[in-house]
Amino acid sequence: MEHHNTKIQAKMCPPHVLLFPLPIQSPINSMLQLAELFCLAGLQVTFLNTNHNQQLLYRHTNVESRFRQYPKFQFRTISDGLPDDHPRSFPMFEDLINSLQAVAEPSLREIVTESGVTCVIPDGLFYYAVDICNEVGVSVISFDTISPCCLWVYLCFPKLIQTGDIPFKGNDLDMLIENVPGMEDLLRRRDFPFYRLTNCATDLYCQLALKEIQSIPRSHGLILNTFEDLDGPLLSNIRSHCPQTYAVGPLHLQLKTRLADKTMSSSNSLWEEDHSSIQWLDAQPIESVIYVSFGSLATLTKEEMLEFWHGLVNSGIRFLWVMRSDLLREEEFSHQFVKELTDGCEERAYIVSWAPQEKVLSHPAIGGFLTHSGWNSTMESIVERKPMICWAVYVDQRVTSRFVSEVWKIGLDMKDICDRDNIEKVVKDLMVTNKEKLKKSVDKLSMLAEISVGEGGSSYNAFEYLVDDIKKLGRRDKDINPNCIR
Ligand code: UDP
Repeated sequence: MEHHNTKIQAKMCPPHVLLFPLPIQSPINSMLQLAELFCLAGLQVTFLNTNHNQQLLYRHTNVESRFRQYPKFQFRTISDGLPDDHPRSFPMFEDLINSLQAVAEPSLREIVTESGVTCVIPDGLFYYAVDICNEVGVSVISFDTISPCCLWVYLCFPKLIQTGDIPFKGNDLDMLIENVPGMEDLLRRRDFPFYRLTNCATDLYCQLALKEIQSIPRSHGLILNTFEDLDGPLLSNIRSHCPQTYAVGPLHLQLKTRLADKTMSSSNSLWEEDHSSIQWLDAQPIESVIYVSFGSLATLTKEEMLEFWHGLVNSGIRFLWVMRSDLLREEEFSHQFVKELTDGCEERAYIVSWAPQEKVLSHPAIGGFLTHSGWNSTMESIVERKPMICWAVYVDQRVTSRFVSEVWKIGLDMKDICDRDNIEKVVKDLMVTNKEKLKKSVDKLSMLAEISVGEGGSSYNAFEYLVDDIKKLGRRDKDINPNCIR
């Protein structure tokens, strides 16, 4: 009899996933890639975005027509609670997180209660989504879009607080933090996500990280954008906290591999992409250009920016630099400033305010990437076989850059030394002196990434398991969620 009931209920409540990204560029990118993969696997998918970001996506990309081909896909939007003219930039991240939470808590509760959703995939930072799902009786699988090496450091926070490693005492940033298993000889204070941490109780990001890791065991599983051959030892450690960890990355490559039409644009940019960068690259010699981008959020002081500029110019290497209009920390970017800066350098330097990054990185003229070590940028660079110079600003970037240089040996870590002489030197090291050595290591990782998403590869299989589990969880959940019966 019980078996019979289960069968009837399964029929009445098909698996339906709701993805809820952090309202910033890189998680939106990764979650849309995951959403499309779910669509290809035949699942019903709802993508919950903020109104603000949805409008930007509609304005600057083809997501509307792209996702229209999947009849079981829908976008839903909620307000982020901020006025239209709020800059939503990183210094105001706290505003964004708090105001979104106030709107999202009741909205999400309503959506998961009423819509027949069987599994919610929120960003790992949305600990409250995990609580809501557990209360309502809907399965929840967190997606942490930060680097696994940083997530492992987060997972060790309680221990580090207990051992007195954090908050830091004294100013020695070169001191090793020896209580993160697997990183005993590697992780210095200056590689720590919050490297100026003096008080865990008052530091917003430390508190968010603690809530994030506390919510992980309350989720059914954890999705990470990495692959076994890159992060195997870390994944074993992470699985001691969350056994059901799905390493499905590099997500953009997994998607590309599974899409029938590999040429179709799959941009998820919140800014308008300047494709003149590709035309400029077309006119440059093979592997002669370094691509410079600090992602969607990181900012520079004017002094840092000038050091980068002169270091790059003095290196004699050609460069393509993404200068977002909000790249400068203290002031608005003026066109006059860029014009004066670039005057006389047009032959070897090209500036855009936002680039089609994946296309840029795959271009044969690109020989290396000067990056802030954001996790998406790092994965994209690995896939496109481009060694990196790392100028990490905060959070996972600081740990990732250490791994890029010391564990994977696919780049050079500038860590905190931003002067033109040093920049000139590392650019030459990357593009000339150490080129072959770095290229060899990154080529190998890129090949392993490709194998991982190919049929039978570890990330390919992890995605299949994830879809299977979502289907099974769907059946279990509707037993306790009467609203699934539609
Ligand atoms: N990106 C882009 N064009 C740019 C700069 C960045 O499309 O000019 C994309 C990039 O491909 C990546 C994302 O924006 O997917 C940035 O994510 P990442 O994790 O590297 O850094 P974050 O912006 O979160 O600091």
